[in-house]
Amino acid sequence: MQTLNDINLFQQSAFINGEWVEAQSKARVIVTNPATGEEIGSVPDMGSAEALKAVDGSHDALQSWKAMTAQARADILTSWYKLTLDNAEEIAFIMTMEQGKPLAEALGEVKYAASFIQWFAEEGKRIYGDVIPSTNKDQRFIITKEPLGVVAAITPWNFPLAMITRKAAPALAAGCTIVIKPANETPFCALAIAKLAEQAGVPAGVINVITGNSEAIGSVFTTHEKVKKLTFTGSTPIGRILMQQCSSTVKKLALELGGNAPLIIFEDADLDKAIQGALFAKFRNAGQTCVCANRIYVHKKIYSEFAAKFTEAVKSLKVGNGLDNQVQVGPLINEKAIIKAEKLIEDACSKGASLVCGGKRHELGNGFFEPTVLIDVDKSMDIVSEEIFGPVAPLIRFESDKEVIEQANDTIYGLAAYIYTENISRIFEVAEQLEYGMVGMNSTAISNEVVPFGGVKQSGFGREGSKYGLEEFVTTKYLCLEL
Ligand code: NAP
Repeated sequence: MQTLNDINLFQQSAFINGEWVEAQSKARVIVTNPATGEEIGSVPDMGSAEALKAVDGSHDALQSWKAMTAQARADILTSWYKLTLDNAEEIAFIMTMEQGKPLAEALGEVKYAASFIQWFAEEGKRIYGDVIPSTNKDQRFIITKEPLGVVAAITPWNFPLAMITRKAAPALAAGCTIVIKPANETPFCALAIAKLAEQAGVPAGVINVITGNSEAIGSVFTTHEKVKKLTFTGSTPIGRILMQQCSSTVKKLALELGGNAPLIIFEDADLDKAIQGALFAKFRNAGQTCVCANRIYVHKKIYSEFAAKFTEAVKSLKVGNGLDNQVQVGPLINEKAIIKAEKLIEDACSKGASLVCGGKRHELGNGFFEPTVLIDVDKSMDIVSEEIFGPVAPLIRFESDKEVIEQANDTIYGLAAYIYTENISRIFEVAEQLEYGMVGMNSTAISNEVVPFGGVKQSGFGREGSKYGLEEFVTTKYLCLEL
């Protein structure tokens, strides 16, 4: 059987200033496989001293990286992209081992992650400025775009590769350098992609991956004068803390935070399409995505039929170790995630909801939880206002468009929303009233490299992917010339 030790990309040291290094203290963070509970390796437990070193190295590397032509940077990024695809299966294996998602999904994430590198390699050549018609015949106004400088990134465990390339690729394409702190649950994907960046010829210091104590590393990232931007993907509570910390240096910020996506199925929806969409939006990555359907609103006329068919489909999902090719739902990331799902189900049932399938830990043990459907859910229940981050689908009945739009918007979050209806006027009327950064209309597969991903309200700000994602890494400079 394949093991991580057979894989060249399996790195257990951090990558700072072009070197693979250990923590000064020699301490290590143990990483376990959520499907088996077994230790799979460890990474250096670093803190502020190493973070300072990484920021300094990244700052030293900045001048020559930003002085390169966009084409020269694109050539390096293109090799990085190709190497990522060439090694896709190895990275997917690492991902399934540390994160738990099924291998097919892991492979999908590697390709998705690679697509950002390819797209930004190209788009980096199209960072245009402007010449503005002058208001004075003796003056000329020229607008240029410059790289921001050193960028710090903090990323989550749920998409351990794509959340990195979605930030690092535009940063590097724009001429910035980057220091990345991946989640402690999933550092190996981050180190693997750094290894490939090294092989692709990314110069020392341009990309760094530092592992260990998030608070200590995060304080350096948020308060260091040389760091010009913090880009964070993670939970809203941690986003709030980082935003406060960044105020000391008035740092540019991008926050990709939590979500509470409503999925609204109107009475005129294509039911089979809606069921497939809901299954994908709810059970992909075992329900652990920021754009997962958190609340499924179904019109009362089709509620019973939808609930019955959807539950049948959910019951057929195969749960297990993601290394098994048949598996569709892997384990949750840790015990805390399981306890959260249990508590939300208990709260909902105590207030009148009923379980129609699942509802408890899976007999496989470890991180496994049964795919669950709850009916008769209403807004008095915590499950409607909190991010579930697990394979639990709450079904809520609604009667009118006005009522469901109000309920959908009644949340602090505003990342993704989905609607299913065959009525084109309704599609636009509803989509325009939803207070969300992204709306899927008859589709829940909405993310790719060419579109802007991001939220409003307490789901954060900033966009990733697309030309908007590149703009996040440049600053606009105005040059005024007197003739
Ligand atoms: P998290 O607990 O906020 O952690 C995210 C990252 O922040 C990890 O690297 C974590 O490191 C680090 N961190 C934790 N406390 C910190 C602190 N005080 N200072 C600096 N860094 C700190 O979130 P998560 O549980 O990993 O990820 C799930 C969350 O991410 C969900 O809310 C999900 O919706 C959100 N998410 C959003 C998007 C989006 O695009 N909007 C995409 C994916 C996920 P440690 O591992 O050491 O704790």
